[in-house]
Amino acid sequence: MSMEALDYIKSHPEGVLQSDLWKVLKIDSRKCSRIVAKLLKDNLVTREVQSADGIRTYRLYYAEKTRGRRFDPLLAVNAFEPCAGCIEECVPEHCAKLSEWIFSIVMGVEGEVAMDIIYQEKYKEA
Ligand code: SF4
Repeated sequence: MSMEALDYIKSHPEGVLQSDLWKVLKIDSRKCSRIVAKLLKDNLVTREVQSADGIRTYRLYYAEKTRGRRFDPLLAVNAFEPCAGCIEECVPEHCAKLSEWIFSIVMGVEGEVAMDIIYQEKYKEA
């Protein structure tokens, strides 16, 4: 299944929303999070935080498209540093995107999967 996911991401150079990927693959979102975590761990994809219809998700890119040594300092567990190119009013102490990024560095891929599951549960209840 992870090869199907990778092929799908690879065929979309503009990137694929994770919230769409699990629907396309006809799997549940938890399984999709685990597949994405494996692809991230294997350095086959990169991702950036994005909102779609008010829901936090990720845009996934095939790693060959975005990975280059010059971007490495902006990546942590293959997630882009959120301040790069950010134009929002900045209060770093209260920035959820920055907190998530730091959390992902501290916890690694397993921590991200745990966070995804927490978010999915949270939005399911809302
Ligand atoms: S801390 Fe948050 S608001 Fe400030 S630049 Fe970074 S991402 Fe943007």
